[in-house]
Amino acid sequence: MSGGTETTATAEKVAARFHELYGTAPDGVWAAPGRVNLIGEYTDFNDGFVMPLALPHTAVAAVARRTDGRLRVHSAEAEADVGSGEGVVHLDVAALRPGTGSGWAVYPAGVVWALREAGHTAVTGADIHLSSTVPTGAGLSSSAALEVVTALALNDLYGLGLTGPELAVLAQRAENAFVGVPCGVMDQMASACCEEGHVLHLDTRDLAGRQIPFDLAAHGLRLLVVDTGVKHALGDGAYAERRAGCEAGARALGVRTLRQVPYEGLPDALACLADPTVRAYVHHVVSDNHRVERTTALLDAGDVRAVGPVLDEGHASLRDDLRVSCPELDLVVSAAGAAGALGARMTGGGFGGSAVVLVEADRAGEVASAVEGAFAAAGRPAPRIFPAVPSAGARRVL
Ligand code: ADP
Ligand code: MG
Repeated sequence: MSGGTETTATAEKVAARFHELYGTAPDGVWAAPGRVNLIGEYTDFNDGFVMPLALPHTAVAAVARRTDGRLRVHSAEAEADVGSGEGVVHLDVAALRPGTGSGWAVYPAGVVWALREAGHTAVTGADIHLSSTVPTGAGLSSSAALEVVTALALNDLYGLGLTGPELAVLAQRAENAFVGVPCGVMDQMASACCEEGHVLHLDTRDLAGRQIPFDLAAHGLRLLVVDTGVKHALGDGAYAERRAGCEAGARALGVRTLRQVPYEGLPDALACLADPTVRAYVHHVVSDNHRVERTTALLDAGDVRAVGPVLDEGHASLRDDLRVSCPELDLVVSAAGAAGALGARMTGGGFGGSAVVLVEADRAGEVASAVEGAFAAAGRPAPRIFPAVPSAGARRVL
């Protein structure tokens, strides 16, 4: 899936469906991508570094302004879940309250709420129809794609003049406060701000971003995404527990966030921590921040192959220190490594979801087959494997 043509065809299809549903043409069509994170995991809520890239998979939304206080939302994918009115969800903008919504519509509704909370009360309603190719619940940020596409469309339609990072922060607020998911800001920043052919080096302390060229094809390389298709229930409370552990570590070390612990100071910091769990979490966060910086230096030097072992180290740290991996993710990493991949790691929150595998382009098929073979041998359903082509962030498409 590449190039602008397919996006335009998709946008026209989404606009046509909007017309069928609401009886008028939309004011425009916008797209926002899902993402994978190359390196820097569980670092964003510690003011640390991350390095995501946008996927070619996008949420595409046709949107029209409404000035009567009504918000109507419809998703091509969620259609079957809703009983009446062709699946259109009707909401009253003035009545939107955090924690009161249910179902997928909380994501776009949360964005409308967050914009109004931030003083953008000109946003008085909208009709929205969307369709997304971002796999859901695979750790590829289908939720952020939904939020960011809504935020960007409303920003344009109501002339709010907000920047990409400002929209990302509002989208994160929608997910934290309205939906009730305590995520960091990486997913929304990636969807809003990534650029085609680049990874985004993001400092989550001040949201300073740097686009780093990531032309895998020019280096004869490929980055595979392996969606294990599993999601372990354990993951639900584990994120909050890891977050609390990192905060406890920061408190014990007398710093506001773990970002303030320099890599060179890690042995001394660890020696100050009595709780072995907290010590392991601190070890992960400080060393993963360092891995982002090492990856940056390697990419700047054009030594993309050398990123492979850094990915392997990152996975070991997530598996052993933070303990957020799972057997399926470990299987991807070990099978890919045994088949000659340059490196691999779980990506996203873990406990299922996806892994990334860096591989020589001419060995990508072999490595993918080896991973599929390992899953079959373990009696698991086949994973979904596709190349992560670094793609554009959120934009207007029609
Ligand atoms: P992730 O963001 O990793 O995909 P989340 O659990 O954060 O996983 O978000 C998934 C949720 O986002 C889905 O359960 C659904 O509510 C919503 N969602 C994502 N894509 C769509 C879509 N195309 N239509 C409706 N809802 C969607
Ligand atoms: Mg999400």
